[in-house]
Amino acid sequence: MEVTGKEIKFAADRMLGKLAKWLRIMGQDVIYGQHLSGYGLIRAARLENRLILTRDRKLKSKQPPDFLFIESDHYREQLRQVIQACGLNPLDKPFSRCLECNLVLQPQSKAAVEKAVPAYVYSTQENFFSCPKCRRVYWPATHHQRMIEELKAVESA
Ligand SMILES: [Zn+2]
Repeated sequence: MEVTGKEIKFAADRMLGKLAKWLRIMGQDVIYGQHLSGYGLIRAARLENRLILTRDRKLKSKQPPDFLFIESDHYREQLRQVIQACGLNPLDKPFSRCLECNLVLQPQSKAAVEKAVPAYVYSTQENFFSCPKCRRVYWPATHHQRMIEELKAVESA
């Protein structure tokens, strides 16, 4: 498997929801959903040239494109495996992608989000981003720091 950190796109099987979420927190492009298992997963991966992440030992017999068999049941171990296998930098572009839709977030002016965020957030934050699909508004929040600590821990362990 020849892969380079920046260009990898992932397709996570439906058993790997938490791993998919953490990869998105890292800003990685990963599709995930209930339809993504077995041949559905293989089809989706082929279509967009994605690396399959799977816990399904039987997948190999279905002649998938490139895939990474995820060894552990625990998302921290899973995340560590993907980071190491693919040479990812967990802190390269965190919080740059919608956690629901997987799309890259777009910067928004403060004025544009006034009605979309709580008043307290509006009065205390300066930098806002939104998802071009679901319109969800994101801003740097305290929980980001905890997530970054977690990513650092995964990387250094
Ligand atoms: Zn979205």
